[in-house]
Amino acid sequence: MSIAIHPSVDKGMTPAADNFSGGTLRCKCSDPVEVSVSSQCAHNHVCGCTMCWKPEGALFAQIAVVPSDSVKVTKNQDKLKVVNPDAAIKRHACQDCGVHMYGHIEDTNHPFHGLDFIHTELSDDDGWAPPQFAAFVSSIIESGQDPEKMGDIRRHLHDTGLEPYDCLSPTLMDVIATHTAKQKGVL
Ligand SMILES: [Zn+2]
Ligand SMILES: [Zn+2]
Repeated sequence: MSIAIHPSVDKGMTPAADNFSGGTLRCKCSDPVEVSVSSQCAHNHVCGCTMCWKPEGALFAQIAVVPSDSVKVTKNQDKLKVVNPDAAIKRHACQDCGVHMYGHIEDTNHPFHGLDFIHTELSDDDGWAPPQFAAFVSSIIESGQDPEKMGDIRRHLHDTGLEPYDCLSPTLMDVIATHTAKQKGVL
C-alpha cells in the first residue's frame, strides 16, 4: 500500500545544506505574495492538525520555525489576512490562493513567542532542513482519514524517519513544560 504523506516527503527528503541562510517564500498566485526569510529553519516537521495549511491532496502539512525577526513580507503584503484572529498563532494567508505565508505569535507569554511558523516548500531555494518528525498524527482523522489505516500510516512515517507523535516532539513538549514551570516559579 502506498501512502502519500506530503509531496516534499514522498519525493525523498534532501538533507539541510551547510551554511544555508534562508530563502524566499511565494504563494500560489501568478502575482505572488513574497516573504523573505533570512534564516535556516528549525524543528521542521509534518503536522496532521486541521489548522496548518496543506497542499492539495496532502495528508499532512509541512511546517518549521524561524526567528520572527528573520521574516519580512517583501511583496503584495495587502493580499495577506489573518485566518483566525483568535488563535494563538496568527496565520497570515493569501486571500486569493489561500496559502498560509507565515504564522506569528503576538502573546509574549507564549512558549514559542519569538518564533514564526513557515512552510519551507513555498521556497524554490534548496537547503532547508528537512522534516524530522510527525506531529499531531491522530488529528488527520479529523480531516476524514479512516481510523483503520492509522497503524499503516504510523508505520510508514516511522520507516520514513519521521517518528509519529500525537502532540509535538518530546523536545518541543519539554520546551513548553519548561516555560510553564518557569512561569509558575517551580523551576
Ligand atoms: Zn499543524
Ligand atoms: Zn496567493
